[in-house]
Amino acid sequence: MKPTPSFNRSLWVYHFNSGSCNGCEIEIVAAITPRYDPERFGIKLVGSPRHADVMLVTGPVVKKMKDRLLRVYSQIPDPKVVMCIGTCGISGGVFYDSYNLEGPVDEVIPVDVYVPGCPPRPEAIIHGVVTALAKLERLEGGSA
Ligand code: SF4
Repeated sequence: MKPTPSFNRSLWVYHFNSGSCNGCEIEIVAAITPRYDPERFGIKLVGSPRHADVMLVTGPVVKKMKDRLLRVYSQIPDPKVVMCIGTCGISGGVFYDSYNLEGPVDEVIPVDVYVPGCPPRPEAIIHGVVTALAKLERLEGGSA
């Protein structure tokens, strides 16, 4: 039987939409509501990037959002982890050749965890958050 990972901290997540169609947002809402209830493990959305450990980015980066994405990223205290949710943020997805696209998220800010899917299921998003938590603990321990 696989050992259950144990973590020493709760994880606060800030969500940023850099140009999503909102499909990924629906799955994030599904992931944080009572069916899965990640708040019982201390995982919750926060309203300010200054309070966050993890930045959750959905959608490709459109021209109007690039500067805002960079500014919000800089407002999250270190150490921080960036999760890219959905195919659009990973590769541009169906919008890859759109006139108003700056590109995938990792061409603008560094990405630590990729969650593919269009949109990804809530289980995949939660798995990504747990992966982010492990990465954050390694960063805090100075070994990542
Ligand atoms: S990955 Fe799919 S659901 Fe998510 S923003 Fe792109 S088109 Fe929408």
